[in-house]
Amino acid sequence: MSKVLVIGCGGVASVAIQKCCQNSEVFTEICIASRTVSKCDDLKEKLAGKTATKITTEQVNADSFDELVALIEKVKPDLVMNIALPYQDLTIMDACLACKVNYMDTANYEPEDLTDPDWRAQYEERCKVKGFSAYFDYSWQWAYKKKFEDAGLTALLGSGFDPGVTQAYCAYAQKHLFDSIDTIDILDCNGGDHGYPFATNFNPEINLREVSAAGSYWENGKWVEVEPMSIKREYDFKQVGQKDMYVLHHEEIESLAENIPGVKRIRFFMTFGQSYLTHMNCLENVGMLSTEPINFEGNQIVPIQFLKDLLPDPASLGPRTVGKTNIGCIFTGKKDGKEKTEYIYNICDHQECYREVGSQAISYTTGVPAMIGAMMLLTKQWDKAGVYTVEEFDPDPYMDALNEWGLPWEVDHAPTLVE
Ligand code: NDP
Repeated sequence: MSKVLVIGCGGVASVAIQKCCQNSEVFTEICIASRTVSKCDDLKEKLAGKTATKITTEQVNADSFDELVALIEKVKPDLVMNIALPYQDLTIMDACLACKVNYMDTANYEPEDLTDPDWRAQYEERCKVKGFSAYFDYSWQWAYKKKFEDAGLTALLGSGFDPGVTQAYCAYAQKHLFDSIDTIDILDCNGGDHGYPFATNFNPEINLREVSAAGSYWENGKWVEVEPMSIKREYDFKQVGQKDMYVLHHEEIESLAENIPGVKRIRFFMTFGQSYLTHMNCLENVGMLSTEPINFEGNQIVPIQFLKDLLPDPASLGPRTVGKTNIGCIFTGKKDGKEKTEYIYNICDHQECYREVGSQAISYTTGVPAMIGAMMLLTKQWDKAGVYTVEEFDPDPYMDALNEWGLPWEVDHAPTLVE
């Protein structure tokens, strides 16, 4: 018997909510709250008569601490699932602390306003100390550790696929497959085709900020930063085929470097087609990816937000996307004194996801682990006060739930390694 408050009702949230509603023994009540309440009402309507979970809806601006506190006090949930945008992470964590409720999200904090002087000062210091220049990092949310511990509350960070499932794979490899892990290559392959020359599979603003940034990886105890898209490899993915993939900075590298003892190198690769890269470079070159407001005919507009309005809504890609994703982690290391390699991965079919929940596989592979992370906290299979990422908990119940709830995983004991 538990009640959750879901904040956000976009591509990922709508999958997470539908999966919660398939699991109504755990999720007896859900309040869906978002900026545009009509989206919440539409989803409630779609689920009417198909679930035993009781659904209510509310409007909220999650940038407002006061609105969030009023909403949480009204709904009285056991857990707040933040599936809005990374911009809202800290406000929602503050509201959870004020109302003494557990918290979870799917992506680490990133500020909306990159010109904010307080944020900028801390960011520039972090760039110097850590050696990577991405706008997102865990320091902001890790700073809440003591507050959550003292309040006896849990904050689970990044329970999507990557971050999220990839860290469960790492914890599983550490627990069952290796005595020591030397290297981790996280491979994120989307072999889907939506038929548009250019579209993003999740929120365009967040996605384009991420992929246009410098790449980086962790090696021998420090970050190595490289020009965007400058490290390219080809890889032959099972059920997808040969793809080009590029080193990106990705948030789970930061927490895995802390939590996998002795790891020597962690890299993250994502596949991109040439059309995507050509469009992205062109948009960047003409200034369309800028987050700085400009004056256009008397109005202030932010170029990347204007672009978001021009691009297809990721939620609309479901019916047109065909093909599969193959996402996982290649490990090298030692077990019982012997060198070994393993690839733990999931293959997900865009059209099967669409038939089940009306979404493409990127929203599906993120929304299912959001539901599972919430289930881990609500059923107290994961139960410790503080702020944690997925690899800091026992992976076994999470890995079982992935098999049960639509993201079955496999292990290849002799994968081709990435050069
Ligand atoms: P969408 O843009 O589709 O949805 C975001 C939702 O949040 C919308 O419903 C939006 O409302 C709502 N929202 C935005 N700002 C506010 C606000 N101030 N107050 C209340 N609601 C707000 O994004 P996605 O579903 O694609 O992504 C959701 C999250 O999942 C993001 O944080 C993203 O980074 C993360 N993600 C994580 C992945 C992983 O593997 N870990 C992979 C993919 C995404 P409105 O409808 O009004 O715009």
